[in-house]
Amino acid sequence: MSLTVTLIEGDGIGPEVVAATREVLAATGVVIRWDVQLAGAAAVEAHGTPCPDELISSVQRNRIALKGPVGTPIGRGFRSVNVTLRKALDLYACLRPVKNIQGITTRFSGVDLVIVRENTEGLYSGLEHMVVPGVAESLKIVSERASTRIAEFAFRFARANARQSVTVVHKANIMKLSDGLFLDCCRRVGQRYPEISSQEVIVDACAMQLVRFPERFDVLVMDNLYGDILSDLCAGLVGGLGVVPGANLGDECALFEAVHGSAPDIAGKGVANPTALILSAALMLEYLGERAAAVRVREAVDHVFAKTTVRTGDLGGNSTTDEFTRAVVLAL
Ligand code: ATP
Repeated sequence: MSLTVTLIEGDGIGPEVVAATREVLAATGVVIRWDVQLAGAAAVEAHGTPCPDELISSVQRNRIALKGPVGTPIGRGFRSVNVTLRKALDLYACLRPVKNIQGITTRFSGVDLVIVRENTEGLYSGLEHMVVPGVAESLKIVSERASTRIAEFAFRFARANARQSVTVVHKANIMKLSDGLFLDCCRRVGQRYPEISSQEVIVDACAMQLVRFPERFDVLVMDNLYGDILSDLCAGLVGGLGVVPGANLGDECALFEAVHGSAPDIAGKGVANPTALILSAALMLEYLGERAAAVRVREAVDHVFAKTTVRTGDLGGNSTTDEFTRAVVLAL
């Protein structure tokens, strides 16, 4: 039986890392029919909007998508495609596993943590206006419903994956109502998971502890903005944005994408590291029930880093995207 998956190539290095990932997936033998949809700059050209309705209905129909990065211009104009997709498809949980890879030397070892980021509200609600000229207001929305379901997701994930602890990241000492509500919801959910140790840490202290003792963290749950920032920080612990995968999950649909953005500085040069999207595709295979193929993809990536010198520029090597991809396919 073949699976149909919505495919979004995206902007910048998107088409390059997507092509690499398709090659690796093809080599697994899992047959996937790609429903290619436009987003970002290509969609603006074709449809006048970066996030066309056709794209949203394609993901709703297929219930699963693989996505390259889509850039969002800073300042006025279109709303972020990423934020629009996550809201329209109610992809409320963003899951980012961050783990050392043997063969990628960093300052840290023993890192094996998972960031669970609330994806639909917080400061990413898009509720901004100018109060008077020279004064802008941005609203941070925190609801009991969204906070409870992300907490439930994090503790359920911890239980299902034999994780030991969930750390709730917040700033409730300052934002007493909004972050206070988030923290309360997490505490209430945590009580129903007595075997999982539940901890709380203020976001600034968390940033400091993550770069001192990252090995002490297991599952971390947090709101949208903290999750965005700490995901990049955690990527830095294990080799950078080129190697950290991600999944956006809801009750109806799932969308798999790397943590990194469109990296316009290296776009079109054939030097992007496709590891993050390849590992995101492994998460997708697992979600689709293709566990053996997911394990093979991860082992092939591990093999390339552990046993060969093939590295893209972001990791200090000089291999191209194609050379790295060929090495992964060979290892498969
Ligand atoms: P966006 O606005 O789309 O989020 P950005 O430039 O702000 O893009 P990223 O694209 O996430 O941020 O990455 C920042 C930098 O990290 C890039 O400019 C690039 O140099 C590097 N980088 C990110 N992803 C990769 C990758 N897959 N391979 C190699 N380098 C990467």
